[in-house]
Amino acid sequence: MMYWGKWAAGFAATFFSAGIGGCEPQAADLVIENVTVIDGTGRPPKEGVSVTITDNRIADIRRGGDTVSVDDNVRRIDGAGKFLIPGLMDMHIHLKGGSEITKDGLRKPAINRKQGIGALHSYLYSGVTSLYDSGNNPDFIMGLREGERSGKITAPRIFATGAIVTYPGSHGSSYEEGDVSSWPEAIETLDRHLKRKPDIVKLTLEERGWGARPMIPILPVALMEKIIEYYNDQGVRTTVHTPSEVRARQAIYAGVDNLSHPVITGPVSEKFVKLMGAKKTPMVTTLTIGENYGRLEQSDAFLDEPIYRASLSESEIEMLKTEVRERYTGDLWTKWMTIMTPVAQENLRLLHEGGAVLVLGTDQTIGPAVHREMQLLVDAGIPPLDVIRIATQNAAVFLGREDELGTIEEGKLADVVLLNADPSEDIANAKSIDLVIKNGVVVDFDKLALPGRR
Ligand SMILES: [Zn+2]
Repeated sequence: MMYWGKWAAGFAATFFSAGIGGCEPQAADLVIENVTVIDGTGRPPKEGVSVTITDNRIADIRRGGDTVSVDDNVRRIDGAGKFLIPGLMDMHIHLKGGSEITKDGLRKPAINRKQGIGALHSYLYSGVTSLYDSGNNPDFIMGLREGERSGKITAPRIFATGAIVTYPGSHGSSYEEGDVSSWPEAIETLDRHLKRKPDIVKLTLEERGWGARPMIPILPVALMEKIIEYYNDQGVRTTVHTPSEVRARQAIYAGVDNLSHPVITGPVSEKFVKLMGAKKTPMVTTLTIGENYGRLEQSDAFLDEPIYRASLSESEIEMLKTEVRERYTGDLWTKWMTIMTPVAQENLRLLHEGGAVLVLGTDQTIGPAVHREMQLLVDAGIPPLDVIRIATQNAAVFLGREDELGTIEEGKLADVVLLNADPSEDIANAKSIDLVIKNGVVVDFDKLALPGRR
């Protein structure tokens, strides 16, 4: 492809990035030389490549000694022996800091920006450059999104729903702001929600009729269809929390754009695998949230890995190792999730092989969870290169931003991670991070307000 001159890339940046790039500080040009590129499309790694970044775009990718003619003030990064992947993307989080537990044990909305920014920095430190917050206090998350887009805070790109839209008393209706019970009365609520400019609207469709949980009210499917149509008519995509095949199927035929969870209530049918291969409705993987219980019950050693030490405070680690671990140990929910996680893993493998579009998501709120999710997907039998695609290109498809994000290709926004070891050989090597570039800017790890130490 052509070499985008500085002017052309600058023009492209202005032209395309409205709403994403914002007006962050101008990046100096840089070139990563002689690196092995894993571009996020699932294609095999390419060795000896030079990648030039101009402003906030990937301007030029070329192979071999055919070096790019760049002027002297360009920063050159030696990529020899290293691996360049697209910035990782977590398409299901709930950023910490948007709520607090009262003395009576109730969860209520709060705004703890320090906590939120600490978590956002743990994502950057873990190589994650885009996030989708799938339900939070709207004042909290939309405030941080605005801060990121205007360049006031250092953070991954933030995409968010704000409130969750669902039926009163249904799963996720903790912030009443998104409760709807009938049509057309719901329109007023939806319009109020739209004023906050959600990137993707999250709905829920679950009766909790499984495990040891009670039956709760559920969003009527006919109402859901109206809601999805209404948002889509305003150009806004939707995603839905569904835990089972039957609910996922209902949501797909109600017109939903994405599914926020895998099927975890039981093994998927062959028919469902075929349906997902045909429809290609992106499905978020979220294995980590359920697997987390049994993992901690079994051993707390992972909390001493450097990436966790950096992402959690000393007191959080201490609490996880004692109080939380004690609570999880022998707990019915822990037992249930330990049984059902391999079922969900096998479902995801079958869906992947059947041509479904899987998307990485953790349902957690720290960066290292993304690496756990990738490991669980590899353990499920999905090849590492495909898992990288699930964490990058497919995540961009989930957002509807695949023209700009998710791969290392000329013209894309420059969100990349340089690794010291090959993640296509061992996905754990994705934790071996040399540097992270977001929007063309090298993230200065020394300036991150990480909750722990590094
Ligand atoms: Zn969630």
